[in-house]
Amino acid sequence: ICVAFLAIRWTSNFDAVYLIFATESLRGAKVLVTGSSKGIGEQMAYHYARFGAKIVITARSKDTLQKVVEKCLSLGAQEAFYIAADMSNESDLDRVVDFALKKLGGLDYLVLNHIGSTRVAMWDGDVEHAKWLMKINFFSYIQMAWKALPSLEKNKGSLVIVSSLAGKMPSPLTAPYVSTKSALNGFFGSLRHELAMKKSNVSISVCTLGLIDTETAMSKVKGKVNMPAYPATEAALNIIITGATRQPELFYPWFTYIWTLTKDWIPSFTDYVVQRSYNYNP
Ligand code: NDP
Repeated sequence: ICVAFLAIRWTSNFDAVYLIFATESLRGAKVLVTGSSKGIGEQMAYHYARFGAKIVITARSKDTLQKVVEKCLSLGAQEAFYIAADMSNESDLDRVVDFALKKLGGLDYLVLNHIGSTRVAMWDGDVEHAKWLMKINFFSYIQMAWKALPSLEKNKGSLVIVSSLAGKMPSPLTAPYVSTKSALNGFFGSLRHELAMKKSNVSISVCTLGLIDTETAMSKVKGKVNMPAYPATEAALNIIITGATRQPELFYPWFTYIWTLTKDWIPSFTDYVVQRSYNYNP
């Protein structure tokens, strides 16, 4: 029964989604992607560009954004703009959404992906850092989502939230990060119910990712974890397909879904494996 259940779940998550995904649906789509100067966000910008979307990208580093925009245009984006902004700065949040609404004439997709920098280390009691990270990784998401909602509603659009397995299953050495991702899962899970109850046009996709081979992640976990990393470009494509097909959730790579089950079904085994995936020698 378990195997059958997992097979059905796996199929519904992946194959069926790929089958119904029509790349044409993204031609001319109006997309805002945050945290898109590097890593998964940059790869998403390139995929959207290849699909012929109109995109706005944002992060703090202007020079990098400019290069990403140039590449997007060369890959086939119908339009591409950038706006430099710091997501820890409250006034930047509305400014970015307003910029995208004005440049693109509305939004079909808001892809919230950025994260603030955090250490991979034992919790050291730095509450100020946890508050700061919450501001960037969580509060900015809910403010931008709220600001974009009327336009998404008008366009039968989608909110895409890039989360992590850490938000479903706490991992050690990243307590503040885990908190921000858990908060995202909780908030947008609740908002999804509310939108459905209001018969809203807007879909919400929450994306659960395992370890992805971005430069930032690889440099942070080097020598600290024993687990495989998956390609950023593939993660990015899976996120885009999940949003375009209005799926409520993505699990990438697929076995992250199994972990979310084993944590409840066989918790002590899961704890054992998780703790042994980290190199820590007191
Ligand atoms: P990166 O560190 O590669 O990219 C982060 C992006 O956010 C950059 O564009 C960065 O640009 C931007 N950013 C950082 N700080 C700020 C800020 N204060 N204001 C505005 N923008 C900011 O991250 P990844 O690509 O690795 O991760 C992307 C998403 O995927 C995140 O939500 C992450 O939690 C999730 N994820 C990643 C995993 C992984 O292993 N890589 C695993 C699970 C989930 P700049 O510095 O120029 O501002």
